[in-house]
Amino acid sequence: MFNSHSQKNPLSYEGTYACPICRCGQISSLTLMEALGCDVCHHIFTINLEKQSLKMADREPALMWHWTGKTWKGEHLGNLELSWIYWIIALSFVLFPPSLIGLSALIFPPISGSVWSWFPLAWTILSFLVHLLILLWLMAEAYQFPVLLFIRTQCQRLVNPRRGNS
Ligand SMILES: [Zn+2]
Repeated sequence: MFNSHSQKNPLSYEGTYACPICRCGQISSLTLMEALGCDVCHHIFTINLEKQSLKMADREPALMWHWTGKTWKGEHLGNLELSWIYWIIALSFVLFPPSLIGLSALIFPPISGSVWSWFPLAWTILSFLVHLLILLWLMAEAYQFPVLLFIRTQCQRLVNPRRGNS
């Protein structure tokens, strides 16, 4: 699968590839430079022809991708393969606090008809959403997924579907 000799579309400075950062731009070689640039997020990349890998040049620690002939495979994700134990931790992180709050509200129910009787339910939902948000943010950080950049480029696409006029 990663054998560079059997690739039909090898990684080279002459080619054009989908941007692995914003996932909607195209990266192609910059004039007079041994580097590639994205037309949407404007990040700079360098190529290792021998290893068929792409390196993000303007960021530390540098991100690396391996070119499979069709898509990018994040080298930095290698040791981040999520095993089931992480999923259990993540799930309990999201579900445990709200269920604790919900349970305590069940055991000690608020006085019915009181102004604050809605509070335990709202608090349970809020705590669930907050923990879910923290988890999603952590995952975005771990996978180096540029959330803000992605949202921005998607917005630009909505406003101006014919990209490249800028
Ligand atoms: Zn890009």
